[in-house]
Amino acid sequence: MLTGRTSRVRSQPLILIADDDLVMRCTMGGVLRESGYAIVEAENGLQALELAETHRPDVIVLDLIMPGIDGFEVCTRIRQNPELADTPVLVLTGLEESQAILHAFEIGATDFATKPVSAPLLSHRVRFMLRSTVALRDLRDSESRLADAQRLAQLGNWEWDVNSGTVVGSVEASGLLGFGDSGQRHHIEDMYARVDLCDLPMIREAMASAIQGDCALDVSCRLVLPGQQSRSVHLLGRVIRGQNGDEALRMTGTIQDITERTRAEDRIRSLAYYDGLTGLPNRLLFTDKVRMAMSLASRRGSKLALLLVDLDNFKGINDSLGHNAGDKVLKAVGERLRDVIRDHDTVVRDPFRDEFCPVARLGGDEFLIAIANLKSGEDAAVVAGRLLASLRAPLIVDENELFMAASIGISVFPDDGSDFEEIFKNADVALYHAKDAGRNTAEFFSASLNEAAMYRMLIETSMRRSLERNEMSLHYQPQYDVVENRLLGAEALLRWQHPDLGSVSPAQFIPLAERIGMIAPLTEFVMTSACRQLREWQQLGAHDLTIAVNLSAQLFRQPDLLLQVCAIPASMGIDASSIELEITETALLDDAQEAERVLALLRARGFRIALDDFGAGFSSLSHLRRFTLDTLKIDRSFIRDLVGSTREIEIVGALIALARRLGVEPVAEGIEEISQQAVLVSLGCRVMQGYLFGRPMSVADFTTLVQQAGNPACPALAA
Ligand code: C2E
Ligand code: MG
Ligand code: MG
Repeated sequence: MLTGRTSRVRSQPLILIADDDLVMRCTMGGVLRESGYAIVEAENGLQALELAETHRPDVIVLDLIMPGIDGFEVCTRIRQNPELADTPVLVLTGLEESQAILHAFEIGATDFATKPVSAPLLSHRVRFMLRSTVALRDLRDSESRLADAQRLAQLGNWEWDVNSGTVVGSVEASGLLGFGDSGQRHHIEDMYARVDLCDLPMIREAMASAIQGDCALDVSCRLVLPGQQSRSVHLLGRVIRGQNGDEALRMTGTIQDITERTRAEDRIRSLAYYDGLTGLPNRLLFTDKVRMAMSLASRRGSKLALLLVDLDNFKGINDSLGHNAGDKVLKAVGERLRDVIRDHDTVVRDPFRDEFCPVARLGGDEFLIAIANLKSGEDAAVVAGRLLASLRAPLIVDENELFMAASIGISVFPDDGSDFEEIFKNADVALYHAKDAGRNTAEFFSASLNEAAMYRMLIETSMRRSLERNEMSLHYQPQYDVVENRLLGAEALLRWQHPDLGSVSPAQFIPLAERIGMIAPLTEFVMTSACRQLREWQQLGAHDLTIAVNLSAQLFRQPDLLLQVCAIPASMGIDASSIELEITETALLDDAQEAERVLALLRARGFRIALDDFGAGFSSLSHLRRFTLDTLKIDRSFIRDLVGSTREIEIVGALIALARRLGVEPVAEGIEEISQQAVLVSLGCRVMQGYLFGRPMSVADFTTLVQQAGNPACPALAA
């Protein structure tokens, strides 16, 4: 590289002639002067070096054999001097001195001439040497300018030899790729090894498709070099093909460091698309993404809800605690909203990409949330309920404990509008109603959704606190052996006395409890209450009573929790044989093997197992054979149409017979009429449960039954 080299501007090229022979010096000097060159002469090696350093000649004519420092030594030292390293040196030798010539080339001579030197030849030699020096200097200058430009542009060039699979890069390219020396060949895989793993498949594909001739290479990717921060680079490449145009021989290209540019773009994007305070997307970005999600929802036939959230008491906080505290509140609220949404599985990932958060801050204390992939619009109410609940948890700001509340307006695409603007406007209308309705609540734009969804939201959010508020209790529905007229026990049925809604049916709240992870604590409550109650009844003398407890199918997916619940009777001194576990067929469907294992464990502990609602669902006879059961509860739907229907009588008869053959006790559910009881007895069923014998009743009422047991046990039976 010639950077920093100074070259003198002269009217005539200057030739240094170093020869101890005066005659030679004069002859050569004369010839060269005549050809238009300026001459300096040295009569020995030392002088030659001095003159070379002071005059910096354009060509040095150097006799190899001189007294003192000979020509070899002079040449060696000249090459060691960076200022003279490129000066052409013509060495003069005797005729038969090929060894000497070889050695001279090794130490840096440019050309040689044999003595005696022919005058015209010398002048030509010098002229050619001068010319090639100029060409070399121009080439080096141009290379140097190119390298400077590449360094400034952080741009390098590389070439990939397709056949050998090797790449070679310029200084800048080698630097970017972490290839120590430029000019060294590396395997293409070494280059790939520098590419960020996330970008690698894309890069390989782009290279392959450029080789196939589909398109030129034009890609950006990140490079990761050991011990360095990742850098972004842009690669351009062009394929060079063989003569027939098919075979790809080489790919030449450039690589440019665009890290700073990418960072600047990111910064600009973040300023343009994100809210500075909360880091949440702003309206611009959000609107764009939601529009995309809406068109996806249209194609999939799913629904998307927009939830417009407005804090209820934010102005008060700002006024009383100051704007600094207000900012902290907004930040914390943003985080809570994001956390709730992150956990929600109906937030569709694809239109928003993984990193996109479907919560936006619109400004002030207003946030907008999108929930995609909904089957029904009212599902959004569940999210709204969670959002409100999460805001209610106390927030500590500057040592103040704050309780936040918000109003939420919900509107659903496509039900409430066909585009973003309309859906947003309607969410705003709904928000207005929510504020009007007393705040700290959510309202749907559409009235029909409002009722159903609000009811569900209310149930879901209040169910979590139902246990601690003692709103749950058990009713007991008696089961009788109608042939012996004997009270056998009861089914424990959960009741929820809701402070606003009144009595809520388990058919309504059990599925919701399953969804929000409340089924285990509820079942624990049922098991504990039932065991405590049974102990009291046993103390009244009813030692043979069996209490049936319903187990949700969902508990079978959490066998550890299930077994924990089933450890309660033993811990309370209740014999497991007094407890019948009612399971439905759905519990056996998911993972039959696991269900079989758990059931076997429970039976081994002494529990009785009943298959509930048989006939309402799948009614697979194979379940009766595969799982060892004690009781088969024939569903109410069979019993309802029993009287007068030969077909139903035949089916129920066959079921009862099959159960008996398998050693399973058939129990008929939902007996409301005496005629139903009569038919069932004639078919061989003697254990029954239904309004005819007693509705699910309070503890007090059932205690009365227990005390009367046997005298006569059931008014219907006595009749
Ligand atoms: P199930 O286990 O089949 O309970 C029997 C249901 O039938 C009870 O409804 C009972 O009141 C009703 N029933 C009983 N006899 C008659 C009758 O003669 N006629 C009519 N029309 N209905 C009758 P309930 O108490 O509303 O419970 C409904 C369902 O809720 C139960 O069906 C059970 O699947 C579930 N459930 C109740 N308590 C619990 C519980 O503690 N845990 C679980 N996992 N589920 C429960
Ligand atoms: Mg049941
Ligand atoms: Mg049942």
